Amino acid sequence: MAYFDNNATTLPCEVAVAAHSEALSEDWRNPSGPSTVAARVRVKLDLVREKLAACLGAHPDSISFTSGATESNNAAFHHLAFTCSSQARVLLSPVEHPSVREAASRYFSERVSVLPADKSGVVDASAISSALEANEVALVSVMAANNETGVIQPWEKIAGICKAHGIPFHCDATQWVGKLPSSKFDACDYLSASAHKFGGLKGVGVLKSPAEFSFVVGGEQEGGRRAGTENYPGVVAMLAALEEADSFVERVTLEKARNEFEESLRGFVPGVKVLGESVSRLWNVSALLMPAFDNLRWVGKLEKIGHEVSTGSACATGKDGPSHVLGAMGLSPEQARRVVRVSGSRETTPAEWSGLADAFRLAYTELQAVSSSSEVVSI
Ligand code: PMP
Repeated sequence: MAYFDNNATTLPCEVAVAAHSEALSEDWRNPSGPSTVAARVRVKLDLVREKLAACLGAHPDSISFTSGATESNNAAFHHLAFTCSSQARVLLSPVEHPSVREAASRYFSERVSVLPADKSGVVDASAISSALEANEVALVSVMAANNETGVIQPWEKIAGICKAHGIPFHCDATQWVGKLPSSKFDACDYLSASAHKFGGLKGVGVLKSPAEFSFVVGGEQEGGRRAGTENYPGVVAMLAALEEADSFVERVTLEKARNEFEESLRGFVPGVKVLGESVSRLWNVSALLMPAFDNLRWVGKLEKIGHEVSTGSACATGKDGPSHVLGAMGLSPEQARRVVRVSGSRETTPAEWSGLADAFRLAYTELQAVSSSSEVVSI
């Protein structure tokens, strides 16, 4: 099966699995334990924190290990809700992940404002200054790159605007970290990421936050920010995966292969539209508005011919209604049901991208044949 759903999760990479299994057999003790063997795990954990902080352009004291970006996003809003004034608002992009949207609305309810964006889902950074001047704002939260479309936000510019106004900036960088260089995130006050999106393991993530932050109480772990016995095997695997991902230099080749896939598709499937095609996108994703057939039929047909793709966000699976991201981009519910997302990884070869184009051609022919034969039957 050729796997093209890497925005949902990636295959754990070999270096991460090796680091994890070594830690499980050698360094499984509680890092807070009193023995010298436990103390050695504590030292290693601190070293992982330092190295991970360096990858993210952050200070080690600002790094907390979490169970993933969902928790990191929730933690940022939880913390702010307890520390900011009861009048302050939060500003979000309209294409944020549900873990940002729902955490914002849980803690700030009607004090959430949504920033304007264009038809590609890119936030209008110029609207932020006036929004900051007109309101008391506790936080601006804009993701680095969208999970459904790969569209990149002007987050560096927005971070600069927030800094100039003295307003904290949160960036959900879950789809960026491990795909594009991470070291520029020093401009963000809060940052969220998940290890399994870049070759690490599920259930492990990171939050960059101010050092005085506190989210989970009941222990002194993570500098008192997040209590609970640390998952050393998980975090050492996350670091191994991120170091490998950050040293990956073939992005341009793979972006070219992805672009060639899109070009072939335009030839095979007339009327297909690539969402966000005119703006900066991650090199690994294509969100495709197909000219016909429900996306679940495409997913099923492509799987039968050996290609695993997606309808969009795994987090939205099982939820009624069309994706808010596609809605914000002006797609009707009917169009949203025709969107297929394909997402490669640094392991995906150009030959696999070209095989995916062939698979779409075959799937299209077969879906058309089934549809015309069912039309004949229904007549
Ligand atoms: N933010 C974004 C942009 C994501 O793509 C995801 C995962 N789909 C998350 C947050 C949540 O990550 P996790 O499920 O690993 O907590």
